[in-house]
Amino acid sequence: MEYKRLAEFYAKIEATTSRTQMTGLLVELFKETPPELIDKVVYLSVGRIAPEYTGLDYNFGEKLAIRSLAEILGIDEHSVEERVVELGDLGDAGQKLYEEKGFQPKGSLSVKEVYETLLEIAKTSGVGALKKKSELFKKLLSKATPLEVKYLLRTITEKLRLGMGDNTVMDALAVAFTGDQKNRVHIERAYNLSSDLGYVARVLVEKGLEGIKAVKIEVGRPVRPMLAERMAIPSLILKKLGGRCGAEYKYDGERIQAHRKGDEFWLYSRRLENITHQFPDLIEFLKESIPHDFIVELECVVIDPASGQIQPFQVLMNRKVKYVSRYHILKYPVAGFLFDILYLDGEDLTLKPYPERRETLERVVKTTDRVNLATRKIVDNVEDLEAFFHQAIEDGCEGLVCKSLAENSIYEAGKRGFLWIKYKRDYKSHLADTLDLVVVGAFYGKGQRAGHFGSLLMACYDPETDQFKTVCKVGTGFTEDDFKKLEEILKDHRIDHRHPRVNSIISADIWFEPFLVLEITGAELTYSPVHTCAWDKVKPGRGLGLRFPRFTGRYRFDKRPEDATTEREILEMFLQQKQYRAV
Ligand code: ATP
Repeated sequence: MEYKRLAEFYAKIEATTSRTQMTGLLVELFKETPPELIDKVVYLSVGRIAPEYTGLDYNFGEKLAIRSLAEILGIDEHSVEERVVELGDLGDAGQKLYEEKGFQPKGSLSVKEVYETLLEIAKTSGVGALKKKSELFKKLLSKATPLEVKYLLRTITEKLRLGMGDNTVMDALAVAFTGDQKNRVHIERAYNLSSDLGYVARVLVEKGLEGIKAVKIEVGRPVRPMLAERMAIPSLILKKLGGRCGAEYKYDGERIQAHRKGDEFWLYSRRLENITHQFPDLIEFLKESIPHDFIVELECVVIDPASGQIQPFQVLMNRKVKYVSRYHILKYPVAGFLFDILYLDGEDLTLKPYPERRETLERVVKTTDRVNLATRKIVDNVEDLEAFFHQAIEDGCEGLVCKSLAENSIYEAGKRGFLWIKYKRDYKSHLADTLDLVVVGAFYGKGQRAGHFGSLLMACYDPETDQFKTVCKVGTGFTEDDFKKLEEILKDHRIDHRHPRVNSIISADIWFEPFLVLEITGAELTYSPVHTCAWDKVKPGRGLGLRFPRFTGRYRFDKRPEDATTEREILEMFLQQKQYRAV
């Protein structure tokens, strides 16, 4: 398959703002792709070279791309830079320059060659890496047509941004290879267990739906996390869980999925990034405490070693540095509170009920002051649940996660369901929880803030349509430093039009591709004539908006935009808010 073909599809996908058309184009592309290339085409189309958990990136900055392009064209870097400023995009500048110079490609590019070269670039590190990366990239540039150069430049600088999410890709895979979009559920399950969309596509093409259904968890490959629903009324929580539940402390730290195979360890974050290097101390503690091959889940917190007391979440953020030194390990000692086990010595435990998984944890973990199990109590009445909730708060936790004890209480990878219900109460507002919303736009401020952000347009995620729908415009809760930080973070994600996956009635002054997730609180959810969340779902011609929204100060770097609070959750919170008032 020629890379030119892929570039032509990219151009068509980029030109559409309709998700249905985008899915249709992807279906066509996947059908045309030779089976041995399907995983590579999937990775390339979502702007990656390998699944996110591998941590494999090009590490090829815009400056290096400009230099490589200038060398191929035999012009100086400044003239390339000028065109980039003029056109606002490196890919467009490259395409224009190739056209103007009448660049004659020396040969042609296949998808295989492009993929393999890009992979080599990503894997090149150490002394002289930049030079080697640039040489490799120039080989591709020398064979490219103007359209190909545009997408090669965007790919290498990680700005491909065709605007499709995992769910759109899975829909297209289902249609292309099973003829029925309904089969996305099976594809999604395989993805939830493997976290690797390219791998899933390959299994589907090579082994069909039966192969997809047989995908199993594997040590070293992260499992997409099971998530909790939320409820604010204890009696209803108990009712929902059949009158009895396992209530566990909800620790306020970082969720980690730890994998062990012999002496090899992997740690994955909530968004499945490989964070093994960040917690060498935790790995030592786990090695001692669990002398088996395993996949376990835990919440990692900083503790005061003298008292064992849990430190606030902000203290843990001091451990989020590129290079963790002895200083960090000693100054911010961590402990892990284990709350689940997914795999033990060759056995997949995800389909076992929660009580059995918890018993397994209790049996195999040698607890110490650094590795412990989440504090738990089996409760069957409101008084005990309330008392345990207050005890959790006193012990420095956010609240409780109430877990089903039923036969069907399996580990539901990648799902938010009622087998786990979180109970976090905020007495100051009518909300059952804070919202994690995605920044999709910004508005300029007035007075002192003229020329800078004054407020941000925030959206929730709707997995059904793979869209981001607006919930509020937030301008309070930010410090001057926050605004500076936000401008810095968001400058690379600015786009000159509404992103195709953003559904908004409001027109922002600046648009962003969905990237950054912020924690937002507010007074209550209300009907809104301007926000698109749950539009027409509770009242015709109305959506749901958040009143008096405020940034809590918490940047949710641990969440991808697709991990933001969903439209369905907001709808449920709105209905619960009504119920809460009625109690
Ligand atoms: P939040 O913003 O509340 O952390 P979330 O979207 O990351 O939410 P939820 O499924 O809503 O995740 O809440 C469960 C989260 O609570 C887990 O992701 C985990 O990080 C944390 N947690 C702390 N203690 C426990 C526990 N005992 N059992 C399960 N999860 C726990």
